Amino acid sequence: MDRKVIIFSAPSGAGKSTIVGHLLQKFPFLEFSVSATSRSPRGREQNGKEYYFYTKEEFEDKIRRGEFVEYEQVYEGMYYGTLRSEVERIWNKGNVIVFDIDVKGGVNLKRLYGDHALSLFIQPPSVEVLRERLICRGTDLPEAIEKRCLKAVEELTYADKFDRIIVNDDLEKAFCDAEKAILQFCGPQAATGLSVSL
Ligand code: ADP
Ligand code: 5GP
Repeated sequence: MDRKVIIFSAPSGAGKSTIVGHLLQKFPFLEFSVSATSRSPRGREQNGKEYYFYTKEEFEDKIRRGEFVEYEQVYEGMYYGTLRSEVERIWNKGNVIVFDIDVKGGVNLKRLYGDHALSLFIQPPSVEVLRERLICRGTDLPEAIEKRCLKAVEELTYADKFDRIIVNDDLEKAFCDAEKAILQFCGPQAATGLSVSL
């Protein structure tokens, strides 16, 4: 079985979840890797759906036991990580894994999986646009939005470490660019759900 992974990284607010959500609906052979985190659930988030939620102590215990393929403290004091069990679960079903992961984790996973991985960086048109999108999304307090925008400046410098950059200005174009990249990478496996020509 050819074990493939697709890695999506971007500054928060760039449109990664929107694009990943579209692709998961479009291509049934893709499956989202649910990460573990020590942050608390936001809004309607459910354990096992958006994330596996753990306390900081539980997360650190899993680190000691070597249960993660990678993990990062993406925000101060908050862990996020990819569980080995999640990767195996998806590959055992014969699906292609989709990761939504921070830029450092994205670079690490690309290094780990090499030619089995396609790494995509979702780039916002500017930090100003990013700020507007985060305000419109309405899930973060003004202080958190400023923190995310500050962090975005550094995260944008990682773009050229990825296989491809997808600029998310016009959303339909970004969908189309991401679909094409996936079809090229996955080849015949992608025959179902094909709606763009290469
Ligand atoms: P991320 O997952 O990268 O944090 P989201 O997918 O949540 O980002 O997108 C942030 C906000 O921007 C959401 O409210 C989303 O609807 C909106 N958005 C995404 N892409 C675009 C776009 N191309 N143009 C305008 N708004 C967008
Ligand atoms: P949020 O708190 O907004 O859900 O996510 C914050 C950041 O953590 C996002 O950039 C997201 O991509 C990243 N992230 C989510 N899961 C993982 C993971 O398993 N590993 C790493 N390194 N980053 C992750």
